Order: sequence, then structure tokens, then C-alpha cells
Amino acid sequence: MKIPKIIQIAGRVFDVEYDDELNNEQGNHATFNADKCKIIIQPSCKGNERNIQGIHISFLHEIVHAISKTTANRKLYEDEQFTEQFAELLYQVIKQIEGK
Ligand SMILES: [Zn+2]
Repeated sequence: MKIPKIIQIAGRVFDVEYDDELNNEQGNHATFNADKCKIIIQPSCKGNERNIQGIHISFLHEIVHAISKTTANRKLYEDEQFTEQFAELLYQVIKQIEGK
């Protein structure tokens, strides 16, 4: 799986950026800012590089948030457990589609 520099969701273009210092309250390694149209991923944590699978799942996690937000389903958007599980399963499907 390749993480693009920009991703379009429902006509809105989101920048995908990286920030080693990212530290949000839930201890997630990525964040989604709907107002600024940004997805920010933390590639390393306290000097330790995260594994690529974790980075990909973080990216998909924020994509799921972005899609939930687009559908205006606030309950889904705020459901971290659903979002993480969906992202992990989606990752497994994508890997199979890619034949990896
Ligand atoms: Zn989340």
C-alpha cells in the first residue's frame, strides 16, 4: 500500500502530512483535521520508527474518520473502536487485493 501526498474524499482534497511530534489526547499516532483538510501521521514515536503496517493502519483510520464525517454520521465519526477495527480489516482486504 502506498500513502499518497494528497487524497480526495467526496470532492475535498486532503493533504497527507507527517509530524514526529504529534501527540494527541487519545494516544493515536495520526490525526484528521476536517477544517484544514489535513491528515497528519506520526511516523516515529520518541525517536523509534513505527512499523509500516502501523503507519498504514493509522492512515486508514483517519480515512475512515473522514468518510464518517462526510456521511454526517456523528456517532460513527466519534466511535474510535469501530474506526480502528474498520481500518484494520480494510487494511487486510487491501493487502489481499494487492496480492501481498
Ligand atoms: Zn480516531
